[in-house]
Amino acid sequence: MPYRVRENLFIGNISDAAEVLQKGSAEITHILSVLSSVSISFFSEWRSGLVIPTKEIKKVYVGGSDSRGVGSGSEDASGRDGGLKSSLSPEKLLYSLEYAGKDLKMVRMAVPLRDMESEDLLDYLDVCFDFIDQSRKEGPVLVHCFAGVSRSAAIITAYLMRTEHLSQEDALESLRQSCEFVCPNDGFLDQLKMFEEMGFKVDHASPIYKRFRLKVLGELYNRGEKIESSRFGADPGLSTEISSEVEVTSNVGNICTPAYRCKKCRRVVAVQENVVDHFPGEGETSFDWHKRKSGNPFIKSDETECSSIFVEPLRWMTAVKEGAMEGKLSCAHCEARLGYFNWSGIQCSCGSWITPAFQLHKSRVDISTV
Ligand SMILES: [Zn+2]
Ligand SMILES: [Zn+2]
Repeated sequence: MPYRVRENLFIGNISDAAEVLQKGSAEITHILSVLSSVSISFFSEWRSGLVIPTKEIKKVYVGGSDSRGVGSGSEDASGRDGGLKSSLSPEKLLYSLEYAGKDLKMVRMAVPLRDMESEDLLDYLDVCFDFIDQSRKEGPVLVHCFAGVSRSAAIITAYLMRTEHLSQEDALESLRQSCEFVCPNDGFLDQLKMFEEMGFKVDHASPIYKRFRLKVLGELYNRGEKIESSRFGADPGLSTEISSEVEVTSNVGNICTPAYRCKKCRRVVAVQENVVDHFPGEGETSFDWHKRKSGNPFIKSDETECSSIFVEPLRWMTAVKEGAMEGKLSCAHCEARLGYFNWSGIQCSCGSWITPAFQLHKSRVDISTV
């Protein structure tokens, strides 16, 4: 039986969902399936002989494109910020929506999520929240995954964090009051912590999110996947590319965007939006006292200023596009050496390890405004 978490909000496993879909339910009207496949055939693969009727409403992809069936609604959940800065590949399916179960009475949304630490949970949260919010207005919603322990629990924990402004720990504790064995995997717990630090939203402009996105790309690279250049940042040196992605932010309040230019030829090579900040001195050698010039080793001084900035991979970085593990970063216009990149990481002069790292030496670039 599903566990009741809040009014009109239940958590369960695949067997709870199968039962509700097969027999219909007086209690549940909406289902959010969080399984490795969005297809209803997942249920018949799990238990042979189980056939659940469905009628597609629509499928929505990360890049914002819809393929719609009959009777579709018109929400636009994926296009929030163009989907360009999401960590998910633009052609990936974000969710599917369908009528399902006995007499096609249920509304089922399915999101493709595996129970793996490296899985990007954050980028599915908004669409899940929208569905849960909308469903609860109409009737009880069951959020389920395979075991009802990790994925569904992570999504409900995030939902409670956002709606009740609870810390990750408090939200999980509160969920455990309803269902004691919930236990999101460690990767999901880390992401829920980021969600908390971003103020209960998935803010693609936040340094926290940018670091997360870079880490996701690094994991893809390490698994041997080719990183499509569509996932790289737009080249800020090309005004056509910059206008679509950066204009929106740079025009707010007429604040000019700081830009980094090649010292030799003045070509713009990065804008502030591309910079992935790190905490100076948080690396392994930050405990190395000899590196510090000030007297008291317990006072963190500003003297460990970083000699480089680190950016997201950008479309002018040809060596990166070609798939190299590491190499020089040269100016796209004059070929002057600007820095270095390494998918396994580079140590900044402040001691922090940045992984993966796309580094521009401050001595090779000038900062100005666009
Ligand atoms: Zn640094
Ligand atoms: Zn140059």
